[in-house]
Amino acid sequence: MRQRIAVIGAGPAGLTFARVLRRHGHPVTVFERDPGPGARPAGGALDLHEELGQRALDRAGLLEEFRVLSRPEGQAMRILDTDGTVLRDWRPRPDDLANPEIDRGQLRDLLLGPLDVRWGRRVSEVAPGTRDGVLIRFADGRQETFDLVVGADGAWSRVRPAVSPATPHYTGVTLVETSLDDVDTRHPGLARLVGDGSLAVYGVNRALVAQRNSGGHVKVYAQFRAPLDWHTDLNWHTDLNWHTDLDRHTDLGRRLDPRLGPDGHGSADGHAGLGAARGRALDLADAGAVRAALLALFDGWAEPVLDLLRHGSAFVHRPLHVLPVRHTWDHVPGVTLLGDAAHLMPPLGVGANLAMLEGAELAESVAAASGPADLDEAVRAFEERMWARAGRWAEITGAGLDRLVSPDPARALALFDEVQPS
Ligand SMILES: Cc1cc2nc3c(=O)[nH]c(=O)nc-3n(C[C@H](O)[C@H](O)[C@H](O)COP(=O)(O)OP(=O)(O)OC[C@H]3O[C@@H](n4cnc5c(N)ncnc54)[C@H](O)[C@@H]3O)c2cc1C
Repeated sequence: MRQRIAVIGAGPAGLTFARVLRRHGHPVTVFERDPGPGARPAGGALDLHEELGQRALDRAGLLEEFRVLSRPEGQAMRILDTDGTVLRDWRPRPDDLANPEIDRGQLRDLLLGPLDVRWGRRVSEVAPGTRDGVLIRFADGRQETFDLVVGADGAWSRVRPAVSPATPHYTGVTLVETSLDDVDTRHPGLARLVGDGSLAVYGVNRALVAQRNSGGHVKVYAQFRAPLDWHTDLNWHTDLNWHTDLDRHTDLGRRLDPRLGPDGHGSADGHAGLGAARGRALDLADAGAVRAALLALFDGWAEPVLDLLRHGSAFVHRPLHVLPVRHTWDHVPGVTLLGDAAHLMPPLGVGANLAMLEGAELAESVAAASGPADLDEAVRAFEERMWARAGRWAEITGAGLDRLVSPDPARALALFDEVQPS
C-alpha cells in the first residue's frame, strides 16, 4: 500500500510516528513550523517510562542508543520543606531503568536521525474530504494534498479543528521556568542541593521544582495557583488561600507590597517585589522584574531554595492549559491526532511518553494496512485505544496537579509516597 501520509509537527509524537513508519519502509512527509531543529531552546529533560516512551523507542529500533544517552541517576528525587528540611531523599538503584531522564534535544536528535523534515512549514488549516484527499494549507499560501494527515502539532494544534471543536482551557496553575548553567562550577552548593535528579519544595498553593539536565544545566520551575492574568492584576493573591502558611512569618500584604511599612504605611525595605508593580502590569520579558515577583511570592522559604530563582537567567512564562479530560471526536476519514494535540494534560511526566507510544502504534497500524478502507479502519481502531489510555492518564494527572499545587502541601508529599514508596 502506498498511501500519501503527512504528519504535522516534529515533536516527540510526530518524529516517533515518522521514524517507525520509515522503519517499516513506508514514506512519510513531516512538516514543522520551526525553521530548523535548534531554532528554539528544547526545554527540560524528560523521563521515559519503561512501559510507554521506552516501548516506543524499542519499536523505532532506538532503545539501545537511548540507554547510552539517558541518565538513570536522574530519577533521584529530593523533597524539602519550605524551611529547607529534607523530607524525602530517594535515589534509584544503579540498575533501575524504569524512568531514566534524557534531554529533549538529545531525544529529538535521536528520533530525527535520517528523517527528512520539511522545516519552516507552518500549517494554518487542514480540510478533509476534498476530491483529491485531505488538503493542507500552509501559512505561506502553499497547499498540498495527502491521503492521511496526522496532527502531532501540540497544544494549540491547527489540525485539531478538522476533527474537534475542543480548545485547551487554563488549569489555574501557572509555571515560570528558568535555568542555571554550569552549576557544578558556578553554583556548587546548588548543584549539591539539587543532586543528580530533581528537587521539589511544596508550599501553600505553590511549589518550586529544580531538575538537573545534562552538561551541568539545571531547569527550575516555579509553580503557583493564580489567575491567568496574574501579571496584570497583582492583587489576585487576596482571592486565594495564600495567607495560610505565610501568616506564620509576617503579614502577606506588607511583604507583597514593599511600599507598605510594618504599620501598613510607607516603605518597608524598598525591594522590588510583586507589590512594587501593583497598579501596573509586570513585564514578563523583564527578567529582573519577574525574578523579583517570584522572590516575593516565595518569600520566607529557605535561602538556598530561593537562590535557585536568584541565579536563574531568562524566565519563561507557561500558564498550564489542558484539553477536556477524555476528549474524543467523531472519526473523520483521512485526519487524526496524536499527543498533546489529542489530549493535552498537566505536565506530570507522561505527555511525551504517551505521544511517543501513540506515534509508534499508529505507524505500525498504518504500515500493516493493505488499502484505503483498511487504513481508515486501522486509524479508527487506533483512536479508540488512544482515547481509553490517554483518558485514564488525563484523570490521574489532573488529580495529581490538584495535589501538587494545593492549599495543603502534605497532599503533595503523600502523592510522592504513593508513587515512589521507599
Ligand atoms: C514543563 C514541562 C515539563 C514536562 N515534562 C515531561 C516529562 O518529564 N515527561 C513527559 O512525558 N512529558 C513531559 N511534559 C509534556 C510533554 O512536553 C508533552 O506532552 C510533549 O512534548 C507532547 O509531544 P507532542 O509531540 O504531542 O507535541 P509538542 O512537543 O508540542 O510538538 C509539537 C510540534 O509541532 C510543531 N507545530 C506546532 N504548530 C504547528 C503548525 N501549525 N505547523 C507546523 N508545525 C507545528 C511545534 O513546533 C512542535 O515541534 C512536560 C511539559 C512541560 C510543559
